Order: sequence, then C-alpha cells, then structure tokens
Amino acid sequence: MKYAACKKCAESVGMVNIMGNILMILIKGYMGVVGRSKGLIADAIHSSADLLATIIMIIGMKISENESDERYPYGYGKAEYIVAILIYIFLFVIGVYIVYEGAISIIYKHIVNPCLTAAWGAFFSIAINELMFRQSVCAGTQINSPSMVAKAWESRSDVYSSIAVLIGILGSKMGFHFMDPLAAIIVGVIIIKICIEMIKDSVLNLMDKAPDDEILDMVNKSLEKITSISGIKNIFGREVGRYYEFQIDLYVEPNITVSQGEIIKREVKQVLSNTIERQLVIKVRLLTEKKGESE
Ligand SMILES: [Zn+2]
Repeated sequence: MKYAACKKCAESVGMVNIMGNILMILIKGYMGVVGRSKGLIADAIHSSADLLATIIMIIGMKISENESDERYPYGYGKAEYIVAILIYIFLFVIGVYIVYEGAISIIYKHIVNPCLTAAWGAFFSIAINELMFRQSVCAGTQINSPSMVAKAWESRSDVYSSIAVLIGILGSKMGFHFMDPLAAIIVGVIIIKICIEMIKDSVLNLMDKAPDDEILDMVNKSLEKITSISGIKNIFGREVGRYYEFQIDLYVEPNITVSQGEIIKREVKQVLSNTIERQLVIKVRLLTEKKGESE
C-alpha cells in the first residue's frame, strides 16, 4: 500500500457505489421520462440492477456473519442467493420488456423525439460511472483486492452503456429516430446479461459448487509448504454465502501426539486464512498413511 489513506478510500467504495447508483437512478429515471428517452430510462433500470447487486453482496456478507441456530445449524449463508434469484428473475423480465419495446418502436417507426435534457442525464451517468471506476480500480489495486478491481470494471462497462445512450439521444435529435430505441435495446441486452450471470451464480452457490480452481490451487500450494504434513488426501470446499467452507484430510506421521496434532490443525487454519481473502470455515482431519484416522 502506497498511502495510509488508501485503506479508508477502499472502505468507502461500497458506500460510494450505492450512493452513486441511487443518484444515477434518480437522475436518469427523471430525465429519461421528462426527456422522453427510452435509452435513458433503460439505463436507469440498468443502474438499479447494479445497485441491487451491490446491496445483495453487502447483505450477504452480513448474513454470512450471523451465527447459526438450532433450526439452521449451517447458518443463513444461502438466504441471499434465494433473494437474488427472485430479484433477478424480475429484472430479467424487465430487460426482455425493454428490448421488446425498443424493437416495436423501431419496427413500427414510433417517433418519439427525446430532448436534450435526456442527453444531460446520459452525460452525468458517464461522468459518475467513470469516477466510480477510477476510485475502485485505484483502491482495489492498493489494497490488493481482485474482487474490488473486478467490480471496478463493471463500472467501466456502465460508462459504455451510458455512452451508447448518449449517442442514441444525439442521433435521434439529428433525425435518426431509430437510434434512441436501439440504445434502449443495447442496454436491455446488458440488463438481461447481468440477470443471467447473477441467477447462474446464485444457483451454482445453492448447489454447493466447489470454489474456483485457482482458490483450490492456492490451498494446495500453501498446504504443501507445511513441513509437518506428509501428504494431502483431499480438499473439499464449497461456498456458503460469502465464505468458504473447507473439509481437508491430511496425512501426518503416525506417532504424533494429540497436542502435536492440534498444533498442526491450528497451523493449517492460520496459513489458509493468510492466503485466502474471504472468511473461512476450515475442518481438518489428520490421518496416518493408509492406517486410518486420528479423529
Ligand atoms: Zn452495470
């Protein structure tokens, strides 16, 4: 990290993203309706899809931190995915409707001339998204968070979406009336794409998909560095809400004591929580080579 201020900046990224998107939904929604631009209205809905994604992520982190209880011994980690699926099915339908509406306008040549107010809305959106992109890319790089950098590029794609809307509005003003509904169709397709990705992600999580290969690789590599382990039998992982749960079976020397075993287990947990950014629940079993389990 270059500056101490970067940590503070990184902590504010989530809040800036939420406030920025709320601001854009209001500006684009209002200016889209007043300025009669289908493209800008679609872009306002795009921002609400992004806003919901951020909110679901934050709520998910909070839920995942909650303690489990008797009825739900594994905690509430998966609740967010059920909510996400419902919300994104709803947004998916809206996305399809936007595309349909835009296509109908072009096919039947419904001429609705957007006015320049709408162009200002698109311009604001480009500026706000670009600023959000720069903040998260900078903060994400400084605190070394791939997920924050990935989220930044989502803001950058929002810039392109709003540029398409701006071109659509200006094109329509110049007499190419199909351009504003065409921009709406493009944004509608982006919304549909976001929804499909979010739904797919949520379903995979509900199905206890293993963490990505690179995560498993990292686990493998860091376990290999621990000298008191003589071999790795298997590593099972799944995503529960926003945290990973690992069941790790390791081979150790047959003559170690119970307390030595506990030290090894503690070392494994320590090493893994140092390498993986997310919250972890780790269960370690120690086995002696081909003889059975110590536990
Ligand atoms: Zn977006």
